[in-house]
Amino acid sequence: MIIILRPDTDKNEPAYAKLMAYMEALPNISIRAHDEEGAEQTLTELYLVGNTKPLDTAEIEAHEVVDRVVRVSRDYRILGRHKNDDRDTHFEYNGVRFGQDNLQIFAGLCAVDNAEHVEIMMKALQESGLQCTRMGAYKPRTSPYSFQGHGKDCLSFVFELAGKYDIKVVSMEITHDAHIEEIQQALEAAGNPTGVMLQIGTRNTQNFELLKSVGRQKQFPILLKRGFGITLEESLNAAEYLASEGNRNVIFCLRGMKTNYGDPHRNLVDFSHVPTVKTLTRMPVCIDPSHSVGSRNMSPDGIMDIFHCTAQGVIAGANMVLVDFHPAPEKALVDGPQALRLDELPWFLEDIQIAREAYGKRCELQQQLTK
Ligand code: PEP
Ligand code: MN
Repeated sequence: MIIILRPDTDKNEPAYAKLMAYMEALPNISIRAHDEEGAEQTLTELYLVGNTKPLDTAEIEAHEVVDRVVRVSRDYRILGRHKNDDRDTHFEYNGVRFGQDNLQIFAGLCAVDNAEHVEIMMKALQESGLQCTRMGAYKPRTSPYSFQGHGKDCLSFVFELAGKYDIKVVSMEITHDAHIEEIQQALEAAGNPTGVMLQIGTRNTQNFELLKSVGRQKQFPILLKRGFGITLEESLNAAEYLASEGNRNVIFCLRGMKTNYGDPHRNLVDFSHVPTVKTLTRMPVCIDPSHSVGSRNMSPDGIMDIFHCTAQGVIAGANMVLVDFHPAPEKALVDGPQALRLDELPWFLEDIQIAREAYGKRCELQQQLTK
């Protein structure tokens, strides 16, 4: 059970003490408080764990400091979408809105190779009116002999260039909790010219200690990739780890499942789960067509599979697209074969726009026919 208090409830006021005394007297129930500090107000939610079935919702709602009570109907207490759950399905970070009702594009380098390519990429994004990008610094690789990313050495020029081209959010995978501090320090040293979204890769979806560390920090939002060989439920529980540690600004990313049944794609594309994740949780849903498809294969209509899969996710209501681009894919140190070229960026964006408008029309149709 979730007890949502009135905004800006003062924990020193007697009405709060009265509620706490009432709840502490409940048998076999433990209470966990979570404060969500927004720009305008602080929202406090109390999570009641234990046998809450016999509790009387109306009795709790009668308390002066209580705004409303939500009964938990799913495992994912914090991020889940429960029955009659009207809690927010969006958040804002560094002036950019992430929600189940809008769409953000994160086009960029799978791996940072040099400052020149980063600058060409950022400039192209600005020219296309984009505010977000992806830039891999810490790369988890199958072979220990493959390029592992430049790590903290590239952070200063990545952040400075992001600031120069007005990029507000850089999605960056981290593979160790020490990377959080490295990113914090580099951002600060550069004068905080941009923001960072911490990405947890598919190989770390169930690295629970990493999830706990990343969830404990509240400075950065988190992009959690679905685990490529586990169930959707297991991956959603991984997201709940982040929220249970305190950070609920989490976006869930579909990136395909590892199986040969998806051949010739690199992974079996799973974007049919976009609406499923939105039904089960309040998280915005991202799709990663690059790591799903894994190549620049083109169908007889002249449209690349990456474009087709992106459209499939967007027409189903995806909220974010994470996609690999490179100024010179043949020179890319990681995942060059799946990178789109910069001259394809305007085409890609227009194609997404068509799918997004079609999604809007589908929602309008639903409204008209089920009024
Ligand atoms: C990536 O986005 O760079 C990446 C490695 O993705 P994944 O964790 O989905 O393989
Ligand atoms: Mn990659």
